[in-house]
Amino acid sequence: TQGMSEVTGSEALATLHRVFGYDAFRGEQEAIIEHVVGGGDAVVLMPTGGGKSLCYQIPAMVRAGTGIVVSPLIALMQDQVDALRAVGVRAGFMNSTQDFEERRLVEAEFLAGELDLLYLAPERLRLDSTLGLLSRGKISVFAIDEAHCVAQWGHDFRPDYLTLSVLGQNWPDVPRIALTATATHATHQEITQRLGMPDAKHFVASFDRPNIQYRIVGKADPKKQLLGFLKQEHEGDAGIVYCLSRKSVEATAEFLSRNGIEAVPYHAGLDAGTRARHQSRFLREEGLVVCATIAFGMGIDKPDVRFVAHLDLPKSVEGYYQETGRAGRDGLPSTAWMAYGLQDVVQQRKLINMGEGDEAFRRRASAHLDSMLALCETARCRRSQLLTYFGQEGAEACGNCDTCLSPPETWDGTVAAQKILSTVVRLERERRQKFGAGQIIDILLGKRSAKVIQFDHDQLSVFGIGEELAEAEWRGVVRQLLAQGLIAVEGEYGTLVLTEESGTVLGRQREVRLRKEPKPAPRAAAARER
Ligand code: ADP
Ligand code: ZN
Repeated sequence: TQGMSEVTGSEALATLHRVFGYDAFRGEQEAIIEHVVGGGDAVVLMPTGGGKSLCYQIPAMVRAGTGIVVSPLIALMQDQVDALRAVGVRAGFMNSTQDFEERRLVEAEFLAGELDLLYLAPERLRLDSTLGLLSRGKISVFAIDEAHCVAQWGHDFRPDYLTLSVLGQNWPDVPRIALTATATHATHQEITQRLGMPDAKHFVASFDRPNIQYRIVGKADPKKQLLGFLKQEHEGDAGIVYCLSRKSVEATAEFLSRNGIEAVPYHAGLDAGTRARHQSRFLREEGLVVCATIAFGMGIDKPDVRFVAHLDLPKSVEGYYQETGRAGRDGLPSTAWMAYGLQDVVQQRKLINMGEGDEAFRRRASAHLDSMLALCETARCRRSQLLTYFGQEGAEACGNCDTCLSPPETWDGTVAAQKILSTVVRLERERRQKFGAGQIIDILLGKRSAKVIQFDHDQLSVFGIGEELAEAEWRGVVRQLLAQGLIAVEGEYGTLVLTEESGTVLGRQREVRLRKEPKPAPRAAAARER
């Protein structure tokens, strides 16, 4: 009908003002909402904090019937529904945390047409009872949140998402909107295909988060470095510190608390009550730091998270982007800070080598790690590298990341690389024993450690030929060679071995450009920089 889009457009805007109290739509919200209100399917890729929720909440309210929201975040449903109810939206949810009576009430509300929004866990849609219920009510729109969970290769794969194509089959006339903050082209394709939405219109928002300052520092004494960073720049701010293991989560929270920064741990090994308590404190209080494994954060909507710190290397750029994306949703300046060192590379490689999964899985994990390492080792603008990774070519240097603010110097590391590789060659000849980076560096530095003596490594011709660099610098060289694929890590002990590319360095066929290891900034200087 004529003028339809104008009417729905103004209705949508009126809802934005009246219900949510916002002045204007952001970015693509308006176009998305108009498309869905008009009955079209949509695939929405928008970074965390971009404002995905309104893209389905408003169509659900403007169109007749109830909007069904499929979300894997059961723990957050109650909060989401409470928040909506607080502004007068008629919302409900159905999941396994409810008792029979509660569920009965929600069902009745839905059937009576008294709900604008109904949140469901994906596993509900496997049940005939749920499908039957839905077919007896009126549905305005299906929203599939965290749609990347349908991607089988992704890190958040949920088998139940595969059954969601049933929505399109059973309700061909109800528009569907799939939303995610994970943006690689492959994931994108998989969402469209597996959810059966070939005709959906795609909306891809910019992945730039200009208010987040990206910084990656060399790891020396990570807890101390973190403390220094927090004291100098984020005293009293709310933030998240990600660690790989539960043990380091606990240790870090304890360390920070002992040093005057209020911090609590969060990981899957804590009981549900403690986790819920720490999460709700984080949401409510102003300056709490949560030390967490990646179990924490998905779907957490706290606008004023001022920093996200990583003490261990994320497994992929997607992971890094999602985790750091939890900072600065309110648009104010925030920091993504990470400490990264040789041990991270060795450990992640070992995890991949030793982990489950077939060869193809390992190759993918390895490729993910390579991209992450490239981001860590780049001498380019970190932001433009991130955006390039997500397919946004041509981004200029941002002026708000560490490599822009103080461009790293590079140096000709060919000779240093050759020294390391020749040492690896000599150790490889001793087939019986395998050695990691520590032994190689000791040999180059001419250190007569117990292990050097034990294996007569002080007799090698390479013993002591690397005294021009300090130990930390050698570790930096090894790390960068690993990142560049000029050397590799094998087995459970992190043995260093040659790669196919190593030969080109040993044969002097190529130059090896390395980043200079930044000297840790003296405290006074760092404080002045603010
Ligand atoms: P996402 O789901 O994409 O991570 P949300 O939908 O949770 O993001 O939105 C992030 C924040 O931005 C929320 O606090 C939300 O209320 C706010 N927001 C969304 N759209 C607008 C808008 N048009 N104007 C002002 N604030 C908005
Ligand atoms: Zn930059």
